[in-house]
Amino acid sequence: MSSNIPTKHDWTREEIMEIYNTPLMDLLYRAASVHRQVHDPNQVQVSTLLSIKTGGCPEDCGYCPQAARYHTDVEGNDLMSVQQVKAQALRAKSAGSSRVCMGAAWRNVRDGEEFDQVLEMVRTINGLDMEVCCTLGMITENQAKRLAEAGLYAYNHNLDTSEEYYKEVISTRGYEDRLQTIENVRKTNVTVCSGGIIGMGESLEDRAGMLVSLSTLNPQPESVPINSLVAVEGTPMEEQKPVDIWEMIRMVATTRIVMPKTQVRLSAGRTEMSAEGQAMCFFAGANSIFAGDKLLTTPNPDVNEDKALFKALGIDMQAPFEKHPQPESKPAEESTPALGEKPKWSRPGHSIARNEEARITKKTIES
Ligand code: SF4
Repeated sequence: MSSNIPTKHDWTREEIMEIYNTPLMDLLYRAASVHRQVHDPNQVQVSTLLSIKTGGCPEDCGYCPQAARYHTDVEGNDLMSVQQVKAQALRAKSAGSSRVCMGAAWRNVRDGEEFDQVLEMVRTINGLDMEVCCTLGMITENQAKRLAEAGLYAYNHNLDTSEEYYKEVISTRGYEDRLQTIENVRKTNVTVCSGGIIGMGESLEDRAGMLVSLSTLNPQPESVPINSLVAVEGTPMEEQKPVDIWEMIRMVATTRIVMPKTQVRLSAGRTEMSAEGQAMCFFAGANSIFAGDKLLTTPNPDVNEDKALFKALGIDMQAPFEKHPQPESKPAEESTPALGEKPKWSRPGHSIARNEEARITKKTIES
């Protein structure tokens, strides 16, 4: 195993589409060969996703049941306490997770008590010797710095899809805001986790376009989650058909080839996949899964099912900090103070017909 494989930063859509469309056996062989040059093919990281603040989000992401404007069954809750988060992290650790990803349904982070509480959660989980990741919406450079000083290992901010198709999914923020947040994270030692969702009605060009956006970042994201849409009732995408397993395998393999050093994460949509389908994704280069019975608000396979699958495949769980060293946590009193900025993140505000319909349906049901 060597990590000297060159990383190419000028991938084009055409090149990526050509890879995606390669006959499957050739694609799998190429992806698996790249994977083995950089990663241990018999090791998969298990991460736990924790929704620390659920629902009531002001954004209009067409796939998301946590958007306040859609009529879904998601029950909102306020920010969890540090003790609650610690208890859940300990439980995840004893089940084999090496990473905890904390998600809050916010448009962007605001300086103040709640963010201070999240910083304390980061210090606490880093103190348990687990990798800590946060996904909190858009953040400024100062907020990224404060997260880094608290001991954050990774920040997740998905590009979701191509720049063109993004306008068909979300109208309350722009693609450039996503890239700006990633750039803010890059100014610290925190690693970047950014990926997307397939099955939202996008074309193959859009899938390739998203991989162009991610792979041309320099450095490329250390982690790229590939989700397949979980079509939740009440969201604008409730009628989308499930993603075919072959498309998922092709997407994973293509991601592995264009971003050889990245940790490729098999994320939402695993409940729809057979054990054999997941095994092919691991062969194609996926080397992380999310464990636990829920992924923020959508279902996920049972931990015991995952353990049985790992046993059948002879896969070991990756230890924490295998890829990057553990960050240090500075105590709150020695950390950079908040600037109390009020950044102007964009609000494109264009109309997306299916998002509007889902919002109006909610109004009709409520009235
Ligand atoms: S994906 Fe995130 S930002 Fe979008 S509606 Fe859901 S919680 Fe809000």
